[in-house]
Amino acid sequence: MSVGKYYKIVNGQLVRAKKFCPRCGPGVFMAEHWRRYTCGKCGYTEYVREAKEKKREDEDKEDEGG
Ligand SMILES: [Zn+2]
Repeated sequence: MSVGKYYKIVNGQLVRAKKFCPRCGPGVFMAEHWRRYTCGKCGYTEYVREAKEKKREDEDKEDEGG
């Protein structure tokens, strides 16, 4: 029941947040993970560079340290 995860509103336009694998090419979606995308086909991983995102009430803690 959560809409808005796979879509983003940019300049009043609805764009898909899903990414294609740059190695496999269009047609191969990348799996969404926490702050990163992963291709299940070739294993390509791309990190998301989001400056600031809306904080969730559920999971707010981050264990991963630099
Ligand atoms: Zn791939």
